[in-house]
Amino acid sequence: MEEREGVIRFRLEHRAAPPAAIAVIAELDAWRTVLHRLGLVGQDPARYHGLGFGNVSMRDAGGRGFLVTGSQTGHLASLGPDGYCRVLRCDVAANLIVAEGPVPPSSEALSHGAVYAARPRAGCVLHGHSPDIWRMADILGLPCSDPAVPYGTPAMAGEVERLCVERLEPDRGLFVMGGHEDGVIVYGATPSTAGQLLVSTLTQALQRLALSASAR
Ligand SMILES: [Zn+2]
Repeated sequence: MEEREGVIRFRLEHRAAPPAAIAVIAELDAWRTVLHRLGLVGQDPARYHGLGFGNVSMRDAGGRGFLVTGSQTGHLASLGPDGYCRVLRCDVAANLIVAEGPVPPSSEALSHGAVYAARPRAGCVLHGHSPDIWRMADILGLPCSDPAVPYGTPAMAGEVERLCVERLEPDRGLFVMGGHEDGVIVYGATPSTAGQLLVSTLTQALQRLALSASAR
């Protein structure tokens, strides 16, 4: 099946609502800015048919769902509260998302929801696109989702759940998305836990890439 980055494949019920308070999303949004500066989140005519890529989320403090970046916001260097919406219900089996906020949710919201469902201690999920981590995934021994499972589908959500539970820790973990070019998902108790794990994994990938280049 052809992969279509950024295209929403779940049923969406979305209604307009005011944005989240800046104090609520400040840490997550700062990490999203870092990921954008590192090229893990963005939009580039030379990558993925020019569609936006990468998205971030955090569990809602009220315990109802999670806040996630809006669909096709990758081109923006900084987002602020207007770039996020609240997912109130994420029903993987029904392939349904109910959301409210100033923008509709990211096309990958279902994968974020699958991580929160599988790992109750995950407070933040970051999805970035890193050719370096992807290329070094085997060498770094990173868990990888089944390449045959198309992204953004209930099957992908099931695969995410399996990886989280079977291969990763309760409060932090990282895996690459086998069927989704350059895709990496990381979760942590807080945005900083998740962000630091992603950046340290990128650093390890760059280190191994440099070593394998020098060995040639
Ligand atoms: Zn992606």
